[in-house]
Amino acid sequence: MKVLMVSPEAVPYAKTGGLADVAGALVSELVKKKVDTLLVMPFYSTVARHFNPEDTGKSVKIKIGDKTHEGRILRDKHAVFLKCSELYDRAELYGTPEGDYPDNARRFVFLSRGALEAAKALDFKPNIVHCHDWQAALIPLYLKSLYSKDPFFAGAKSVMTIHNLGYQGVFPADLYSITGLGPELFTPEGVEFYGNVNFLKAGLISADMITTVSPNYAREILLPENGFGLDGVLKSRSGSLRGILNGIDETEWDPAKDKSLPSNYYAVDLAGKAACRKKLISECGLKEGRGGLVASFVGRLSGQKGVDVIIEAAPEILSMGVNLVFLGKGDVAYQKALQEFGRSHAGRVFANIGFDEGFSRLVYAGSDIFLMPSRYEPCGLGQMIALRYGTPPVACRTGGLADTITDYDPYSGKGNGFLFDGASASGLLQAVKLAVCAFSVPKRRESIIKAGMRAGFTWKKAVLGYTGIYKELSG
Ligand code: ADP
Repeated sequence: MKVLMVSPEAVPYAKTGGLADVAGALVSELVKKKVDTLLVMPFYSTVARHFNPEDTGKSVKIKIGDKTHEGRILRDKHAVFLKCSELYDRAELYGTPEGDYPDNARRFVFLSRGALEAAKALDFKPNIVHCHDWQAALIPLYLKSLYSKDPFFAGAKSVMTIHNLGYQGVFPADLYSITGLGPELFTPEGVEFYGNVNFLKAGLISADMITTVSPNYAREILLPENGFGLDGVLKSRSGSLRGILNGIDETEWDPAKDKSLPSNYYAVDLAGKAACRKKLISECGLKEGRGGLVASFVGRLSGQKGVDVIIEAAPEILSMGVNLVFLGKGDVAYQKALQEFGRSHAGRVFANIGFDEGFSRLVYAGSDIFLMPSRYEPCGLGQMIALRYGTPPVACRTGGLADTITDYDPYSGKGNGFLFDGASASGLLQAVKLAVCAFSVPKRRESIIKAGMRAGFTWKKAVLGYTGIYKELSG
């Protein structure tokens, strides 16, 4: 079995969010299972700064509109990079806080065509082409159009994984020509989307199998309120849509072995967590409030994540004696709001605007509760990491959050986190109040923390789900 994996980001090379964790972990787990896997992704400047992949001496040349781009094929173990300076030599992966790069359509047409051409150049004849998010979503349609008669891809089946339906790669119709697809595909049944071209739709109409990252999200995206305009298309493909819950790399995210922490700890002995908390409080310059909890947020600063919900609820959260720590990067308006909030409430609120994995580890380990009031959440990795680090999540009952968090029941004392319905400040406040109340009883607090640390979200189950699909498709 040969799997060609195409993703715009993957750990350890480049990461803006959960997609990178998933793509990276999936590749390494497949390799462990002796599945011949080749990951293809762009050679961004950030990859160049930290890795030195070998030049294969081969390259791909893709004509996009009236310009031909050449990409050198570099290789590092099971990953192949397309090196094309004019497209990928940028400070960021997709854009700056001010907006997306204007040539993103071209950049990811190049990745999609380039990945197929690179597979040919390296003689990697795939049984499965597994495409992640809109940046790789033209590939299933390329396989059924431009490459349908190419013997190299004869029998190759495609899997399209949706990590976040909110990002679809929608571009003005006049950019359609750069996809290289014929005019017959620019129709409402094809890739046309309200007069624009929609890259993700290309994958959804043509992939042999569609997956998304939690069973609950797979159900939610069939509804108009969560379908971002593609619920009809997804409904028509619902027989080929599966939800496979993501995992986390439990060796990478392990409070018992995490070298970046001042002290390690285990479910059976939580003493080290107090040292992490102390360090976090001191690094953030926090003064202990009356209720004494530290609530944290780590994530992309976008409307999806509900950071505005936290800001709205903050005065009351602070009045409960709960301090707030934010780590995030994203929309300029949220960045400014958080910076201002941190400045005006120094000692109670700390905002780190940036992407900082090391600090994120201290935040996961050192805080008491983890806030995730997401408006929607395909799977969410933050809450799984928080659970593993003994920091019960307070989260909206949506998508994968509902699949991974067991709501605390004050009567039985069972549960590993706190869920509320609808991303509102009042819902969040109620849940935080319940958490503060439960944490005031040390035995309760400990049992909630331990239940989370023992929940276990390994990749093994997810990989079984994917390999099952690969086998099913390749028959
Ligand atoms: P999404 O993929 O929607 O951004 P997830 O919860 O699935 O959200 O995954 C987010 C991942 O990125 C988690 O591993 C989280 O710890 C990490 N992350 C997000 N923002 C930051 C940041 N500013 N600094 C460090 N890590 C971050």
